[in-house]
Amino acid sequence: MIDWKEPEVDFATSIVRQASLLSLIIEREMVAPALSKYDQSPVTVADYAVQTLVGHAISETFPEDPLVAEEDSSALRTEDGRAVLEQVRHFISSSLPKAHPENICNWIDRGRGKCSQRFWTLDPIDGTKGFLRGDQYALALALVVNGKLKLGVLGCPKLGPGWIITAVRGQGCWRAPLKNGNRYEPLRVSKCKDPSSAQVLRSFESKHTNEILMKKLLGEMEVQKDPLRMDSQAKYAILAEGVGDCLFRLRSPDAPDYIEKIWDHAAGTLIVEEAGGRVTDLRGNPLNFACGELLVDNCGLLASNGLLHDAALQLLAKKSHL
Ligand code: AMP
Ligand code: MG
Repeated sequence: MIDWKEPEVDFATSIVRQASLLSLIIEREMVAPALSKYDQSPVTVADYAVQTLVGHAISETFPEDPLVAEEDSSALRTEDGRAVLEQVRHFISSSLPKAHPENICNWIDRGRGKCSQRFWTLDPIDGTKGFLRGDQYALALALVVNGKLKLGVLGCPKLGPGWIITAVRGQGCWRAPLKNGNRYEPLRVSKCKDPSSAQVLRSFESKHTNEILMKKLLGEMEVQKDPLRMDSQAKYAILAEGVGDCLFRLRSPDAPDYIEKIWDHAAGTLIVEEAGGRVTDLRGNPLNFACGELLVDNCGLLASNGLLHDAALQLLAKKSHL
């Protein structure tokens, strides 16, 4: 069971829950009725609003800790950014009534911290395309200490009834409903051992994977079910709850040198590991979160229930380009 008395655990879960609920409000008010009017800005507003809340909260509760996050305020400080900044102020005002443009920008820029011996990493809205489509997206916050994932929290507002999922190294992976719920239940990966009956997970975006190699792998595994295409680290939640069995993150031929960002995988990785699964890169190496903002030691990513991992790695080892 999770020790909720650990201040970091309660802190991270509460702030991700609060920010996830705010993201739903932004989505409801901006995306559906007003997409053409606001164009791409709903996701921008949501990204900045979430990063403002988390940046502010870390400044208040763990002032010494760096935050390494996806966004910065430079675009908001321009003439063109003023309208977006005003939207951000509007949406966070119920949480931070005294916020004004300057301190909003400063709280966002709290996320420009450097990876150090202990730091937080945040993807405020992972799966931006999913957010705009009304599909899956996730808020992802993790704590890294001495290069190791210690705590990971995912807010998945569009998964089932909406979940908040918390994993603590050595204490398991637990989830509760995002709205009105502190009833936590443990998550456990599937027991699927047979590659042919595996539910494979992959990015929704074709450009975030390698379609040809994916097809080959599925053929070699003799997979019966269509892969589940999904945006964001919600895929890790699906794996942790035992609905998905194996997640391939293959390198796109359009971006063969793409290196993964830590905030795209930190929280999700611990969530899968603490639910009993395994996460490595495509060559079987553990993810190295001690190299800065990028996973420079790694190549793509394979996450699974553990039981299917070696078989998948063996197939991958035969591929010349990963
Ligand atoms: P997904 O939802 O699985 O498609 O992953 C979303 C994340 O993929 C985004 O947060 C981006 O940081 C990241 N991303 C952007 N370009 C690429 C790429 N060429 N290959 C893999 N991931 C990418
Ligand atoms: Mg992301």
